[in-house]
Amino acid sequence: MIQIELPDGSIKEFSEATTPGDVAASIGAGLARQAVAARFNDHTVDLSTPITESGRLEIITLKSPEGLEIYRHTTAHLMAHAVKDIYGDKVQVTIGPAIESGFYYDFYCEDHTFSPDDFEKIEKRMQELAKANLPVRREEVTRDSAIELFRQLGEDYKVELIEDLGESTVSLYRQGDFVDLCRGPHLPSTGFIKAFKLTSVAGAYWRGSEKNAMLQRIYATAFPDKKALRSYLNKLEEARKRDHRRIGRELDLFSFSEEAGAGLVIWHPKGALLRTLLEDFERREHLRRGYDIVMGPQILRTDLWKTSGHFDNYRENMYFTDVDGQGYGLKPMNCLAHMLIYKSRQRSYRDLPIRYFELGTVHRHEKSGVLHGLLRVRGFTQDDAHILCTPEQLDMEIKRVLEFVRDVMGIFGFEYEVEISTRPEKSIGSDEDWERATRALMNALKDLELPHDINEGDGAFYGPKIDIKLKDALDRRWQCATIQCDFTLPERFDLTYVGKDGEKHRPVMLHRVILGAIERFIGVLIEHYAGNFPLWLSPVQAVVINVTDHQAEYAKSVTDTLRAAGVRVQSDLRNEKLGFKIREAQVEKIPYMLVVGDKEMADATVAPRFRTGKNLEPMSPEDFVRYVQEECDQYR
Ligand SMILES: [Zn+2]
Ligand SMILES: [Zn+2]
Repeated sequence: MIQIELPDGSIKEFSEATTPGDVAASIGAGLARQAVAARFNDHTVDLSTPITESGRLEIITLKSPEGLEIYRHTTAHLMAHAVKDIYGDKVQVTIGPAIESGFYYDFYCEDHTFSPDDFEKIEKRMQELAKANLPVRREEVTRDSAIELFRQLGEDYKVELIEDLGESTVSLYRQGDFVDLCRGPHLPSTGFIKAFKLTSVAGAYWRGSEKNAMLQRIYATAFPDKKALRSYLNKLEEARKRDHRRIGRELDLFSFSEEAGAGLVIWHPKGALLRTLLEDFERREHLRRGYDIVMGPQILRTDLWKTSGHFDNYRENMYFTDVDGQGYGLKPMNCLAHMLIYKSRQRSYRDLPIRYFELGTVHRHEKSGVLHGLLRVRGFTQDDAHILCTPEQLDMEIKRVLEFVRDVMGIFGFEYEVEISTRPEKSIGSDEDWERATRALMNALKDLELPHDINEGDGAFYGPKIDIKLKDALDRRWQCATIQCDFTLPERFDLTYVGKDGEKHRPVMLHRVILGAIERFIGVLIEHYAGNFPLWLSPVQAVVINVTDHQAEYAKSVTDTLRAAGVRVQSDLRNEKLGFKIREAQVEKIPYMLVVGDKEMADATVAPRFRTGKNLEPMSPEDFVRYVQEECDQYR
């Protein structure tokens, strides 16, 4: 008698060996339809895996993230099957995992370069294979016979994988005449797969190493039904339209140049202005909140990076140079100069908290494969601050940073999620330090009623932290603010303050950023707003457009008046049709078009028209200046 315990605690009895699929069917037809795999005594198994002993069983359905992952992973095999059917021996299969919003499969192929033109053909073959509803069968074989099999098939990568696995038996999955090495689990048959789409193709090194062969990675996605697939593809299309690299080019904000180097942003006039506006905002907001602005050098002596521990732990991401026999490191972080400022004189408890703020430009050597527009770069500027305080002040300081984050995210219209990461297994600092700091982070979140996830053991070895992920208009998550407690740097730099008791004490230290990297934040902002920046952030706030040449002089004088009053304005006096000039201004996403015709000229007014087509009442240029100032003061 086999006893199967279900998640609700109930027990089902079977007189002989059974399978998860049969158990699901015995519970209900609905469950059997949704079932994709199962967990038996904490191992994931196929629905067809025989159960010969008693144990706990949980059916995995398509409704769970894990179920969807199995669904997508099985679709990756379906894609590999279709590619092998079409391209035969020209192609070798490698690996095909599920990823966040779909899956990919890496192929080795010398004499064909996959392109989106191939997708339709591959999708068509996948549809045929799905329609044939081929059973997907698991097989356990010895390592040697698996190596023999894949060697015969000419699948060298599979042979290498099996050799490296070091297991005496491996599992294969067969569907029709296609066989693949895999741990599973998989869907029971290809007919379960209803909706998929190939999305893109990219190069990828075998096992991620530049020393290995270049493979071709086909990205795709799959959903349980066509409707869900369509809604995902629409979202993808919207994301493509909002791609900051594309909008950045269209609005002439920034560029990258191979001549200058990968991952290094070149800011064009409008982009540099946008960035300056954001930086001015940051300086203002930090000064209001009691931060001191400081500035450190770009390169600091290598010896100092040894003191800080960066040389030992972070060297491969740093750039070094030699000047007059002296080693220097280009800073990847801004902390060190701030430590030196603190140490430049004796500090008393009365001086604390000290909050050093720097718009600090740093360089980090990211792998070329991960570089992505403004979102992943090698040189960037952080809105970085280091707070040094007494242990008693820690709660308050963390709370103030979180309030800062809340206010700033409100201004940009971002919702956000909070995660707290606690002490990892390997860590430095006393139990007391960790408890106090973790409690301070928790208390601040509680006081501000911020719901949060806890990542147990996920903190840095030198202290717990809070990460803030903002949600953009397309519901994507972006890491921005962090608050990181640090027990090492005050030790390594021997930072002290004289307490009320006249003794020397160690200050507590926080590293924190609010927007994070300005480059990345601008990338996210561009996509969030789809390039339609609010008035206060727009590099060009208004364009003066004359109807005919007759008003050219008046349009010029309006432009001069506005510019002198601080409005970021340009004029379009070309001898073109009004409609054409308005459309061009809309393409440039300029918030206000100030149309001046004979009537406006006679009345000494302008007629502001918002980029969406909404008109304001005609007003004098001076009133428009006041209007812009008021809107900007409200961060609108
Ligand atoms: Zn698999
Ligand atoms: Zn720091």
